[in-house]
Amino acid sequence: MDIQKIGIVGAGQMGNGIAHVMALAGYDVILTDVSQQALDKALETIRGNLARQASRGKISDEEMNATLGRIGTTLQLSDLGATDLVIEAATERETIKQAIFEDLQPHLQPHTILTSNTSSISITRLASRTDRPERFMGFHFMNPVPVMQLVELIRGIATDEETFKSCLAVVERIGKTASSAEDFPAFIVNRILMPMINEAVYTLYEGVGNVKSIDEAMKLGANHPMGPLELADFIGLDTCLAIMNVLHDGLADTKYRPCPLLTKYVEAGWLGRKTQRGFYDYRGDTPVPTR
Ligand code: NAD
Repeated sequence: MDIQKIGIVGAGQMGNGIAHVMALAGYDVILTDVSQQALDKALETIRGNLARQASRGKISDEEMNATLGRIGTTLQLSDLGATDLVIEAATERETIKQAIFEDLQPHLQPHTILTSNTSSISITRLASRTDRPERFMGFHFMNPVPVMQLVELIRGIATDEETFKSCLAVVERIGKTASSAEDFPAFIVNRILMPMINEAVYTLYEGVGNVKSIDEAMKLGANHPMGPLELADFIGLDTCLAIMNVLHDGLADTKYRPCPLLTKYVEAGWLGRKTQRGFYDYRGDTPVPTR
């Protein structure tokens, strides 16, 4: 199926990045959120990121302006009715995602493919509650979207081959690489990454190391470009906790239990970079460890 118009639900850190790469590749994009402030902030972020790409000579000024011209925003979910593909990138909570698909459904064309950027929630279960489980799949970008090369494509039990091929063609057109994953909790990347981040929080919780020593140890000792706590702040601690809970519930194995310290940070509203405080405090010129 030839996809031309793409709807994106949720204009947070992932939604704005997805809108950026889709519009840059020539797709018409319509971005929606429940918050006008989130939409305004998303456009500002996209503008800033495109300007940086232009200043580095990666794209021309004409491309930058044309890309911005291809992105529309709306507070009305029904405005996504005319799209060929919807990528849902709202908050990682199943009830929210389910309500979005339910509200969207009556406005969609029969051919429209529904996808979710969920990091961990069952694609099969989300699909089963829609009117088109065969045209539903996981479209999982990595953060930051304009920079990271991988997209995980996750088939639900009912996803048909045409839907998979159409999504694969989109990944290729935006110049990224798809990795195909089966629909089990947290798929491939987060199944491996999140338990490592959770274990880093346990080493902090148990006093094996402090924030600085844990991050430095993994950067210099395992050659990771970012320390696990720095990375957790970057992803969002609420998202990390939600993924651990999905692994814990979905695989019913105590090895996935979320660290109580991770829960405590989330309860405090210290969600990482997006709230300016997490394992580091970002309110000053340089990040300061909070433990
Ligand atoms: P975020 O908190 O930055 O943004 C979420 C956005 O969704 C907010 O702007 C919020 O207003 C909006 N929203 C909430 N309810 C909505 C609704 N009913 N309709 C429309 N918009 C709504 O979160 P994020 O980090 O961008 O994550 C979004 C999704 O992407 C999650 O499913 C997450 O698991 C997934 N994801 C995140 C990362 C990451 O590194 N942060 C990576 C890959 C995938």
